[in-house]
Amino acid sequence: MSIVVLQLPKVKRQTETRPKKCKYCKGEILQRWGEVKKPVQDTKMRNVRVYRYKCCSCKRTFRQYPEGVDRADQTQRIRKLAMVCWKLGLSYRGVALVMSAFGVSLSRMSAWRDVQEEAQRQKKGKRWKPVRILGLDGAYVRGWGKKRPVLVAVDLGEGEPVTIGYINEHDPRAVKRWLEPLVKRLGVSVIVTDDLFTYRQVADDLNLAHQVCQFHVRRWVGRELNRLKEEIPKAWLWVLEKIQAIIDDLPDDGDKQLFELWKQLPGRTTQPDEERAPLEQMRDMIIRLSERWERYIQFVDDPGIPWTNNGTEQVIGRMKMRARTVRGYKNWQGMQSGLMISGSSIS
Ligand SMILES: [Zn+2]
Repeated sequence: MSIVVLQLPKVKRQTETRPKKCKYCKGEILQRWGEVKKPVQDTKMRNVRVYRYKCCSCKRTFRQYPEGVDRADQTQRIRKLAMVCWKLGLSYRGVALVMSAFGVSLSRMSAWRDVQEEAQRQKKGKRWKPVRILGLDGAYVRGWGKKRPVLVAVDLGEGEPVTIGYINEHDPRAVKRWLEPLVKRLGVSVIVTDDLFTYRQVADDLNLAHQVCQFHVRRWVGRELNRLKEEIPKAWLWVLEKIQAIIDDLPDDGDKQLFELWKQLPGRTTQPDEERAPLEQMRDMIIRLSERWERYIQFVDDPGIPWTNNGTEQVIGRMKMRARTVRGYKNWQGMQSGLMISGSSIS
């Protein structure tokens, strides 16, 4: 069992310092211009003291809110608490119920709004942080009417979701359109993905280093080898063992070793419109592995690159676990915020 330390924002009854500058013109001479009691929804207080100031340069007045309070009725502490309750699996009705235990009456609607706002706030905080190594993976999530394809981008340095696109990972053009500005803004130089055609093309188009998740490679190669074992002539079984050994060891010159293997196999005998014979399928597989070899061993020379896309899968796992108990997101905005919150670790 893991221990979760939950830090909620502090809320103060009143500010302890005067503002230094006018929030409109940055003028420095300010005059106290009365005070108001602002009613708030919070676990500990019913109202806070808000001072108003008048700027002597531009003559405008403004309010200075104490820590943890802003224009909203709910304090930041309540909003954060609502978000955490939702993330732990409560419905919006459930969130409102928990709040009532703290003496806070929150409608289902404001519970929903609080969660959405918290997601927006987190998104803003993350936008400009550089990300060197980005994990990408597609998933399907229940949404309005049916399952919707999403593409999840994860900062593999921190293991936190960066953003989510309403994109099908099997569409290379859509993925590229979505990824290109993200790569520029965050300064991404490496992507980690599964062994899908889309990602190879996008990595090449955008000039990114590419690590293919070794779990995926081992899975599909293992499946192919098992199938071929039953179908190729016995005399060639040693080739399968050789392929397996190369995949297990991931040597630097694996591409060359595979190419040498390829040269030892008989050439094509079937016609172009005929189905490939098992031996030819094995030969094709060898050349395919050889061509992709560089994408399999990117991690060897760069200790920052993980050799699997496990970090991304963990984030998607958290998103899916929460999505199971949501009856279906109502629209893209709600889905995106919901997935972002449930995919991030509690903070
Ligand atoms: Zn001013």
